[in-house]
Amino acid sequence: MITKKIQKRLFGTNGVRGITGKELTPELVMKIGASLGTMRKGRIAVGRDTRTSGRTYINAIKSGLLAAGCDVVDCGILPTPALQYLVKEQFDGGAMITASHNPPEYNGIKIIEPDGTEMGDEETLKLEQLIFDEPFSTHTWDHIGHDLNAPRLIEKYITAVANHFTGKPGRGMTVVVDPGSGPACITTPRILSLMGCNVITINCILDGTFPGRLPEPSEEGLQNLSSLVVSSGAVFGIAHDGDADRAVFIDEKGQFVEENQEFAVVAQHICRQSKGTIVTPVSTGQIVEMIAKKENCPITFTPVGSIYVARTMLSLIDQGEHVIFGGEGNGGLIFPDHQFCRDGGMSAAMMVLILASTGKKLSGLVKQLPKRHIIKDKIVTPQGEKILEALGVFYSQNPIDRTDGLKVFKDDSWALIRSSGTEPILRIIIDSEKRETGIAFHEELKQEIQKIVQ
Ligand code: MG
Repeated sequence: MITKKIQKRLFGTNGVRGITGKELTPELVMKIGASLGTMRKGRIAVGRDTRTSGRTYINAIKSGLLAAGCDVVDCGILPTPALQYLVKEQFDGGAMITASHNPPEYNGIKIIEPDGTEMGDEETLKLEQLIFDEPFSTHTWDHIGHDLNAPRLIEKYITAVANHFTGKPGRGMTVVVDPGSGPACITTPRILSLMGCNVITINCILDGTFPGRLPEPSEEGLQNLSSLVVSSGAVFGIAHDGDADRAVFIDEKGQFVEENQEFAVVAQHICRQSKGTIVTPVSTGQIVEMIAKKENCPITFTPVGSIYVARTMLSLIDQGEHVIFGGEGNGGLIFPDHQFCRDGGMSAAMMVLILASTGKKLSGLVKQLPKRHIIKDKIVTPQGEKILEALGVFYSQNPIDRTDGLKVFKDDSWALIRSSGTEPILRIIIDSEKRETGIAFHEELKQEIQKIVQ
C-alpha cells in the first residue's frame, strides 16, 4: 500500500508540466523519450491531447524513443485513459503529451507503465536520474526503432467502454457532452451514442486554442453547457478536462454537481451492487466516507494524487482485498473492473447506467446525500514545512492524520493542510457538518499560521 509520497525534481503528481517553450522544450521532451526508451524496451504507444504544441512534443518524444531502439506506435489525438487502455491491452509502455486541465500555454508528459497505470514514484526517480545524467542508449543505424501511425486504435477504447454496458441503458435519454475542444470530442459522444443516448454536443471540435472554454471544467466555464442542458431537456450534461481523465456533471436543472457529490453518487451505486473497499486520497470530502459507512463498505485513504489511489487499489487486491471503486474528489474516478486509472469516458457511461437503473433524476440523487460544507483556501508562503510542523504541535491534542500534510479532526469537522510539491503554496481544505464550525476552524487556522510566519 502506498503511504508516502516521494518528492521528485522534474515530475509532479501527474507527470511533467510546464509552459511551452519555457519550462518545457523539445530538447527536454526528447531526453525524456530517450531515457524512457533506455528504461523500457519494446513497443511504446504515444498520444497527445489537442494543444497547439502537441505535434512538436510528440515528434520530440518519438525521436528519443526511436533513437533508444524502441518501436513507436503513434495513436494520435486521444484521451489519456484511452492511451492507458491501449497500453494495458497491447503495448510495453506509453507516453502521453498532455497538460491535462492547465491553460493552453502549458504542455506536459504522463508516462504510462505496461499495466496502463501512470509511472509510480520509484520508477520515476530512476527515469529522472537518466534524464539528468544522460547515459542514454542511442543505437546504431541498424537498430533504430520502427515508427508506425495507428490513429484508428482509439476505436478499441470506445467499444471497450460501451461494451461494459449491455442492453443500451441510455435509450430515451438526451445527454449533452462538452469535451472542451479536447480529445474526448472523438470518444465520449460515441460511447454514449453506442449506449443508446441521444447525444448533443458543445465545444466538440478538436482545437488546441480552446475557443469555447478553458481545459479546466470549472462551474464558471460551463455556463453554456448548463443552458443547453436545460433548453434541450437533457438528463445531464458532462464536461471533461483537457485530457478527459476527469468528468464533471451538470444536473437536469442546469446545476453544477460538486465533484465530491459526484463521487458519492457513483460510490453509492457501486456499493449497492457489491460490497468491497473504496480507495481515495485524504483530501476527498467526508461525504464519500459517510456513504461508504452507510453502505457497509470500508474505505482506505492515500496521499493526494491519482497514482497513489491506483497503486493502492492494486496492492490491496494483491493482498486479497475486494476493491470496488476508487478516485479523487475532483471528478477523477477509477473503475477497477475496467482499468486502474481515472477515466472520464467511463464516468460518463456509468452516470447513464445509474440514472437508468435507479430511475431517478441526477438532482434527486444529489439531494439525498448527506450535507457537508467545504472551504478551500491557499496561502502563498515559502515556509510550508515550518507551518505544518508548528500546526502539528498546536493541534497535538486533536486526532491527526499525516498521510499527506496534516489532517486535523475537530468536533464535526476536519482540516487538511498540505504543501504543494511544485509551488510555494500551502493548500487548505476544511470539511464540516455545519457552515459556522467550518468558518470558525478556517479563522483559527489563519490566525495560527499568521503567528507562525511572523
Ligand atoms: Mg486530466
